[in-house]
Amino acid sequence: MMMIDLKQLFEIVGESVNFDCNLNLSGVKLGMTNPFTEPVHLSGKVTNRAGIVSLSYTASAIAHTVCDRCLAPIDTPVVFGFEHILVKQVNDDSNDELVVVPNLVLDLDELASSDIILELPSKVLCKEDCKGICPTCGINLNEKSCNCTQKRVDPRLEILSKLLEN
Ligand SMILES: [Zn+2]
Ligand SMILES: [Zn+2]
Repeated sequence: MMMIDLKQLFEIVGESVNFDCNLNLSGVKLGMTNPFTEPVHLSGKVTNRAGIVSLSYTASAIAHTVCDRCLAPIDTPVVFGFEHILVKQVNDDSNDELVVVPNLVLDLDELASSDIILELPSKVLCKEDCKGICPTCGINLNEKSCNCTQKRVDPRLEILSKLLEN
């Protein structure tokens, strides 16, 4: 658990604290998968620049997901960058960039977890034109083709072909 004490950072203009740590997000789910089976690496700093305390950091990891259409595993290296302004109190909570730290301790784990989860795409595809899996026979249509689609006849045509048979 990564907590950053902000007392000095708020008091001293020009003060800066670097951090480099790992975040465990193995419990996070994306669809049916846990994308972060290995720790997510966080690296960044908190700086007091002219009295404004800001946090800037990157989160990097390998995201393990599956294709939304064919379920093929996809491992993607991801790097996300985040910036926040830290404030002791806020009068107007319409600014999403502001993070309120009333007790002057930053819970980096909690903030980074929500930052990262918001960045995750709800769906991923192994490739833009993934053909997916045949709903009838379950074959991966990127690898093989099946005859299922040819057998699927328009019901109106089916009636017609029955009429023609008689
Ligand atoms: Zn796919
Ligand atoms: Zn098929």
